[in-house]
Amino acid sequence: MTDNNHKKRMAAKKAVMDKKIADASEERGVLILLKGNGKGKSSSAFGTMARSIGHGKKCAVIQFIKGRNETGEYKFFKDHPLVDWHVMGHGFTWETQDKSQDIRAAEQAWVVAEKLLQDNTYDMLVFDEMSYMFKYQYLDVAPVVEALQQRPKYQNVIITGRTMALPLQEIADTISVVQDERHAFRLGVKAQKGIEY
Ligand code: ATP
Ligand code: MG
Repeated sequence: MTDNNHKKRMAAKKAVMDKKIADASEERGVLILLKGNGKGKSSSAFGTMARSIGHGKKCAVIQFIKGRNETGEYKFFKDHPLVDWHVMGHGFTWETQDKSQDIRAAEQAWVVAEKLLQDNTYDMLVFDEMSYMFKYQYLDVAPVVEALQQRPKYQNVIITGRTMALPLQEIADTISVVQDERHAFRLGVKAQKGIEY
């Protein structure tokens, strides 16, 4: 492509982009869902949270399922003055195998989540692995949808989990699917500190 053609193409592209930017003028918080079987949902959520913190925004995390290990993100963020970090779950559900205990943990987590969704001092909430609460029917999705819809106008919420309840997808602003094309685990590589947790 000649320099002149390139310039013309870029000018046309800029006009289209400028119009799109001008059209997207609404300011409000968004509900972001990060789903799918690939690796990168929770780490993307915490990356976005780091971005918010960089701008001085107050954030809270609820970990609905606790892993076997203390995660690097927990160690990094837990003492940050702009972050409240709640670990509510009891470990992997297939490891605990105690449904009533899991339901109690989910209900306690929801009590905390609901309060956060009513508090306009929080700019961002991350509900990590919340989707499993609906998959295993530990929580009812309807009150969650209602609380999300009633939340403060500028509050952003990110929910992660492999499968996402449909009522959440209906009210979400952004949905990204992390596809599993390959994972080192299946090549026999052990879960690594700093990569997996
Ligand atoms: P990450 O926390 O790394 O962003 P994730 O939130 O997308 O991962 P989860 O479903 O929460 O993925 O799984 C958490 C753990 O399982 C991570 O240690 C991750 O590396 C691992 N994992 C994610 N996807 C896969 C996969 N397709 N196969 C095997 N292990 C996976
Ligand atoms: Mg995750």
